[in-house]
Amino acid sequence: MSYESCIRCGYEIDKRGNFCQNCGFYIVKDFSEKELFVYRMDIIGFTEITQKIDVFDLKTELSLFFSNLRNISEKNGGYVNQYIGDEIEIIWGLGKSFDYREFLDFLKEIDEFLKSEVLRIKFRMRMFGGYGKMVICPVHTGIKAYLMLVSDFINELNEIKTIAKENEILLLGDVESIFPANFIEKRIEEGFTFFLLKREGLYGAN
Ligand SMILES: [Zn+2]
Repeated sequence: MSYESCIRCGYEIDKRGNFCQNCGFYIVKDFSEKELFVYRMDIIGFTEITQKIDVFDLKTELSLFFSNLRNISEKNGGYVNQYIGDEIEIIWGLGKSFDYREFLDFLKEIDEFLKSEVLRIKFRMRMFGGYGKMVICPVHTGIKAYLMLVSDFINELNEIKTIAKENEILLLGDVESIFPANFIEKRIEEGFTFFLLKREGLYGAN
């Protein structure tokens, strides 16, 4: 038996499992290498929003916003790894391998949520993601615990963030191997705008 405390919540975990039974934190057996789909979303014009809206109202709206995003992610197999300011990072492929259909359901629900009347502030999102092999290791800072992702494509993911716009979804890495051939075309018909990114540059759009 191999019991240890969860680095996020302190709960005694059985390391044979994948996730802490108490808080859902992913249990890394030392350093792990995995094929992951990493997806990030951030709020467009966040600095301007903070200047226009009362801090207390904004905090209330943001917690409602992020808790809904978390619920939608987890319902569709995505693990919310961390919040970085106004950005949320979601990982698929930790407990089981990535299934693009879960990602598609996630996108549809996010879309419905953003159009709904749940929030008083209409947040507009930038979305970008990538697929590839990476090394994961747990980090515990004292205030928060998250998985650090190490790979070339994570660096590139940070770079493509600057070119993402509202209603565009930028995908990077070996994404063609995980999405079926007509996936992108079909999503475009449904109103999503997709871009695939290759190391040579941008190709394919609507
Ligand atoms: Zn835990």
